[in-house]
Amino acid sequence: MTATEELIASAEAHSAHNYHPLPLVVASAQGAWMTDVEGRRYLDMLAGYSALNFGHGNPRLIDAAKKQLDRVTLTSRAFHHDRFAEFCARLAELCGKEMVLPMNTGAEAVETAVKTARKWGYRVKGVPDGRARIVVARDNFHGRTTTVVSFSTDPEARADYGPYTPGFDIVPYGDLAALREAVTDDTVAVLLEPIQGEAGVLVPPPGYLSGVRELTRDRNVLFVADEIQSGLGRTGRTFACEHEGVVPDVYLLGKALGGGVVPVSAVVADTGVLGVFRPGEHGSTFGGNPLACAVGLEVVAMLESGEFQQRATELGDHLHAELNLLVGTGKVTGVRGRGLWAGVDIDPAHGTGREISEKLLDRGVLVKDTHGSTIRIAPPLVISKEDLDWGLDQLRAVLG
Ligand SMILES: *Cc1c(COP(=O)(O)O)cnc(C)c1O
Repeated sequence: MTATEELIASAEAHSAHNYHPLPLVVASAQGAWMTDVEGRRYLDMLAGYSALNFGHGNPRLIDAAKKQLDRVTLTSRAFHHDRFAEFCARLAELCGKEMVLPMNTGAEAVETAVKTARKWGYRVKGVPDGRARIVVARDNFHGRTTTVVSFSTDPEARADYGPYTPGFDIVPYGDLAALREAVTDDTVAVLLEPIQGEAGVLVPPPGYLSGVRELTRDRNVLFVADEIQSGLGRTGRTFACEHEGVVPDVYLLGKALGGGVVPVSAVVADTGVLGVFRPGEHGSTFGGNPLACAVGLEVVAMLESGEFQQRATELGDHLHAELNLLVGTGKVTGVRGRGLWAGVDIDPAHGTGREISEKLLDRGVLVKDTHGSTIRIAPPLVISKEDLDWGLDQLRAVLG
């Protein structure tokens, strides 16, 4: 047995099978490249679902983490620590909002938003107790907790986990008329991904997000944008909502906020929204810990310059121009996305997304399939043009 086979067999024997990873075992990584236990190198064109927007081992982020490791890593929120205020202030400013509520994982940020919206509904909007409803989109992905999967429409994500949390209404994504129908006086929030990542990098029709903004404003409903995957540079802007000039009431952030180093998530909104919490009403042992704040602060500092957004725009234009050339010529039936983020639909006659991912793996390129026949491409924003072109060569060889 090779080292790879041995490690995979051992992982299979001793871990729950809630994932089906591609058959490589990573030992180290730098920038856009990963090296496996056999010494083979792979171009990472998934980037931890955007958690690695700044690449593996980014020197600024590793340096920030190392410095903080030597000072203090955890206090719990029972005490103040000296990295908290600056992280919250700078992140709020990046978002153009007043307040931050830091958590750890994306799903926790979504859970926190559900609580925020409900509490806001009862305390501020005046919804009768127990009646608050939240409108979400079909084919959403907002995480894996029991409440969050309660409003998933993916049978795989949802089956066998009931009883489900009530209070959610599901409408087709991109359909403003359906959304307008679904909003009632008891609606406290509309929760959406501005681009649906897990669903296959689905970009809503032009005018949709601005229509959601207008409708939610008119009906006194919070617009909660889950930018956990789409935000922080991926699409060429700090937030995907910016492409339509839309400012939601609440941003949900995660993934890249932790720089691929530690889990850091946050709910960001104005005082009129996040001000609903009082001591004891919500919390997290690790939320806003010193290490998370130190890394998160460096992420915010990196985004302030706009250089990563610029890279995502330029390299993204190139990526989409090249991918679009494949549409209709070989195995590719469609390409969607924005910035350095693409969903590529494969003609099922030419194999599943998984099979395509395995062929790319053999050529040293790592991508991930989603929903059977789509592969998702999201390299780190630090990828060089040369490496991206090399990756595109491999894609052409497999998909052309
Ligand atoms: C990944 C993701 C989440 C959940 O984040 P976790 O850190 O895995 O809990 C929520 N929303 C979106 C849009 C995501 O992509």
